[in-house]
Amino acid sequence: MTLQQKPVEFIDLKAQQQRLGDRIPRAIQRVLDHGRYIMGPEVLELEQQLARFCGARHVISCASGTDALVMALMARGTGPGDAVFVPAFTFVATAEAVALVGATPVFIDVEPDSFLLDPASLDAALETATRTGLAPKGIIPVDLFGPPCAYPEINAYARERGLFVIADAAQSFGASLDGNPVGTLAEVTATSFFPAKPLGCYGDGGALFTDDDELADRLRSLRVHGKGAHKYDNVHIGINGRLDTIQAAILLEKLPVFEEEIALRNRVAQRYGELLEALVVTPALRAGVNSVWAQYTIQSGERDAIAQELKRQGIPSAVYYPAPLHRQTAYKDYPHAPDLAVSERLCAQVLSLPMHPYLEEEAQGRICDIIRQAL
Ligand SMILES: *Cc1c(COP(=O)(O)O)cnc(C)c1O
Repeated sequence: MTLQQKPVEFIDLKAQQQRLGDRIPRAIQRVLDHGRYIMGPEVLELEQQLARFCGARHVISCASGTDALVMALMARGTGPGDAVFVPAFTFVATAEAVALVGATPVFIDVEPDSFLLDPASLDAALETATRTGLAPKGIIPVDLFGPPCAYPEINAYARERGLFVIADAAQSFGASLDGNPVGTLAEVTATSFFPAKPLGCYGDGGALFTDDDELADRLRSLRVHGKGAHKYDNVHIGINGRLDTIQAAILLEKLPVFEEEIALRNRVAQRYGELLEALVVTPALRAGVNSVWAQYTIQSGERDAIAQELKRQGIPSAVYYPAPLHRQTAYKDYPHAPDLAVSERLCAQVLSLPMHPYLEEEAQGRICDIIRQAL
């Protein structure tokens, strides 16, 4: 790395902070001034703005993406003896939420080009679940790395079999399918505002989206210890799942630039595609998909060599994810579809490159040159 070269960040939160100037410190100060740290006015304001942003009828903010998944599962009465189908190739929280409510995650495979749930694998896993005496209860498709799954097909499949669908949109809020935004694609959608997600706060945060009035009421109750008419009237077993007012205030300042940031992310992804197409397997989007590019993830048999050379030249990269969930110590005894070959191969070949709206063309050129050298 020469002296003139700016360091390349994997996700550059500082560049965004600079762009927003003093808006965020001022928003935080306003919360300090009114002092309503729990369920303050910014929380309701954020929920209204998120609803406007994605067109969902109800938005229930919460403490994290993991809590969002747990609350959705609780609201659907998921528990011991129930099988919930989750991809083996995802972040652990998808399966963890299922295990936390006492149900059984059943792992299914993903498609090699899109990284998204493979419906064919779902059939096999359903059989496995039934054979082991579990009651098939629901599916959690994961919009891994930013593009939404094929929800129309998944919803139809689930409806025929009486299964619920909880969209794990932790990495895809802001994306759309055939013009329909994430948040409206499944009966209930869970997202995360973890700092590194496309729309992130400065701590933990999350939200649920649904058009179902009854489900929304249930989720709002579960978020505050299963409250009924008031906090000390407990009609469900819930959790403490609220989003902090300070985090809501931060998100309110970031939301106005989000649409433009999504466009910038798409430009970065397109440039990567053009520069890398001939060198490695670049991510493929289905027709009608607008992704938010939470990650830009390539596939190569030379993954480790590429990562090493990038590191040697000061460029960060990451392996999301190094092991499929059915190989993880805590999850290896859960049932899975008979064949998870794609998930296994992906874990050996994927590499996520620096991706954020403010990644400059020059830096991208340098990253791609290093990848060419490594090969
Ligand atoms: C980040 C993430 C979660 C969990 O979100 P947290 O806010 O960190 O709890 C769940 N699923 C996926 C796919 C994620 O990437």
